[in-house]
Amino acid sequence: MASAAEDLSALTTLELPAKATARRDVADLPALREALDVARAAGLPVIVLGEGSNVVFAGDVEALVLRYTATGRTVLAEDDESVTLRVAAGEHWHSLVAWCLEQGYHGFENLALIPGTVGAAPIQNIGAYGVELAPFVEAVHAVRIADGESLVLSRSDCAFGYRDSVFKGALRDAVVITAVDFRLQRTAAPVTDYPTLREALAGRAQAPGPRDVFDAVVALRRARLPDPATTPNAGSFFKNPVVDTATADELARRYPGMPQFEAPGGRKLAAGWLIEQCGWRGVEGEGVAVHPGHALVLVSHGGDGRALLALARRIQASVAETFGCHLEIEPRVYGVAA
Ligand code: NAP
Repeated sequence: MASAAEDLSALTTLELPAKATARRDVADLPALREALDVARAAGLPVIVLGEGSNVVFAGDVEALVLRYTATGRTVLAEDDESVTLRVAAGEHWHSLVAWCLEQGYHGFENLALIPGTVGAAPIQNIGAYGVELAPFVEAVHAVRIADGESLVLSRSDCAFGYRDSVFKGALRDAVVITAVDFRLQRTAAPVTDYPTLREALAGRAQAPGPRDVFDAVVALRRARLPDPATTPNAGSFFKNPVVDTATADELARRYPGMPQFEAPGGRKLAAGWLIEQCGWRGVEGEGVAVHPGHALVLVSHGGDGRALLALARRIQASVAETFGCHLEIEPRVYGVAA
């Protein structure tokens, strides 16, 4: 078996030390298919990375780590009401959001400053401040890792859910997303009912426009969340759990003030609040920590993936013991013994 040789620490925003058997950056479809052929011939599984902002390497991996770096934005159709864009997977998500704002293509403002690439965005159906990606997606273009075949998935094929999609389920590690088609509106309809955003936009003489929403979201995220460039992290480390209504009512009785939100299947609890109540905010050790400004974000100060996952497990155990609910890890985790 080939020994792991390629350093991965610079490829993820957590900067965890880990190695892979091989790594390749490919910028077009022929190069992608060629790299997949090489991996298949060598019997290596393929791990696809974008900007590595939602991935944890807990140890070395026997795999080809592949980045599809193609860029480009094409207008497929445009009329007075809407525009349909095809955007290559290697585009930086926030740059696309800023460009759409400049062009007068509306809808993405609340999703400003989310780290990562366009190709990564459908995987966890990125969402923030009351908006999620799914309704804007017309199609996802992908190449199947097993045989290099091209696939086009419709929005319903993507099976989008809360921070979830088919790319985390049946198609996990099975395709490379190469482009996404989006439909955006030419008339702005700002979504401002998310509480912290509404507060940030309060007190204006005029109703906020898309530029105001974009600026407010950027300011909120900068104030609350650590910048991965200076504090290695992977954003929210846990999903917000959804519990059935009877459980939620019982929790609300025992813990007055617990935030709860209506959600399909019951009510969504705020994972950050649960973690903070268990006393984890700011806890650090072994080179990893719970961010002092936001308990949902785990950060690395030079620690490794093993230490980070050990911290995550201790947090999961204490939240389960206190509140009886399971926190699911949000980023994709690789390099853990099965
Ligand atoms: P917050 O405003 O402190 O609220 C805490 C949690 O409560 C959020 O996770 C949010 O769920 C939920 N929530 C609050 N008001 C809600 C409402 N009116 N309806 C439904 N759910 C509500 O949140 P925050 O941590 O500062 O984050 C602000 C936004 O940025 C959130 O939308 C969050 O998802 C997003 N964000 C995403 C990441 C990531 O890595 N994916 C990291 C940080 C923040 P939701 O998460 O479902 O919105």
